[in-house]
Amino acid sequence: MPALDDIAAQKLALLDEKQLRRTLREPAAMQELVSFSSNDYLGLSAHPKVIKAAESALKTYGLGGTASRLAGGNHAEYGVLEAALAQWKHYTAARVFSSGYAANIGVIPALVGAGDLIIADRLVHACMIDGAKLSGAQMMRFAHNHLDHCREILAAHRGEYAHCLLMTEAVFSMDGDTAPLQALAKLAEEFEAWLLVDSAHALQPLEWEKKPENIIEITTLSKALGALGGAVLGSQLLVDYITNTARSLIFSTGLPPSVVAGANAALQVVQAEPQRAQRALALAQHFANAMQLAPAQSAIVPLQLGEAKKAMEGSEKLAQRGFFVPAIRPPTVPPNTARLRFAFRYDHTDAQVNELIRTLRELGICPCEP
Ligand SMILES: *Cc1c(COP(=O)(O)O)cnc(C)c1O
Repeated sequence: MPALDDIAAQKLALLDEKQLRRTLREPAAMQELVSFSSNDYLGLSAHPKVIKAAESALKTYGLGGTASRLAGGNHAEYGVLEAALAQWKHYTAARVFSSGYAANIGVIPALVGAGDLIIADRLVHACMIDGAKLSGAQMMRFAHNHLDHCREILAAHRGEYAHCLLMTEAVFSMDGDTAPLQALAKLAEEFEAWLLVDSAHALQPLEWEKKPENIIEITTLSKALGALGGAVLGSQLLVDYITNTARSLIFSTGLPPSVVAGANAALQVVQAEPQRAQRALALAQHFANAMQLAPAQSAIVPLQLGEAKKAMEGSEKLAQRGFFVPAIRPPTVPPNTARLRFAFRYDHTDAQVNELIRTLRELGICPCEP
């Protein structure tokens, strides 16, 4: 039998060969780099009101979540946050999980199982795939944002399964583009499917001409709200049912009260100051325009470079010039679509963004020809 260390060394060497080995990264500020990597789009993680609320809850309740929410860990901060989240996002109920990842792997198996069908956008986040695998439902994928392909799959296969769940993201995490939600909702209605939307990277509540009836939304508190945690949003009945079924909620310790209180304070700031979201988006649009990329639809702008090696080199060159921009490689993105991923924030200055544009031009880093 080979030693565990030998197996580890072999597998790591394979990753090294393909330039796909991952490393832990400290926050860019500690390396004195300007970060275009943080998901704290609205600059709320260190907002004074957020810190104050978290501090106060820390002093009141102590550090830990102390137990699962269903076994005594349901401290009072949860109810406040869930009511505020549901109201902000226009649902009747919300349930907070310990992360967006935990929400997806808990909620999806609560909704579908063996004999059911999941039809997911090709680019949905890893945790949605993991949730689908855990559910035991059959999964099929449609080409990214391709409504006709989704319809083809529905037409060919919907009838073979009991229930059907369409899955997509509101804002795609590695591409920054948005899903055609209203059209997907129509398809779901036409083929008697439910629609699950993960809005992790959205800065504002989803907008609908006509809100679908069979909609369920999953989101995270760890990105635009600068905190930690995930949430599922829907009707009261649906949320009650999920509370009784989602294993990642039931069998895991709840969030620390300070984090929940901090997330709630962040949510208050988001609602009171819509200019934060507007500015993050405007900076992304300015950047995309200056770099002659497709118009930005969110605070995320990818610059595709093709091979993993090129993206790594680009990232290193930018670091030498004072910018932290992560190289995103397979398997996070499809083969040969390695990229630099720029995330714009409310608190980037105009000068920082313009300097970034100038530097990219000087380094000759531009999108690969398709
Ligand atoms: C980041 C992300 C998650 C995971 O959220 P965490 O709170 O970080 O666990 C889930 N879904 C999508 C689409 C994401 O981008």
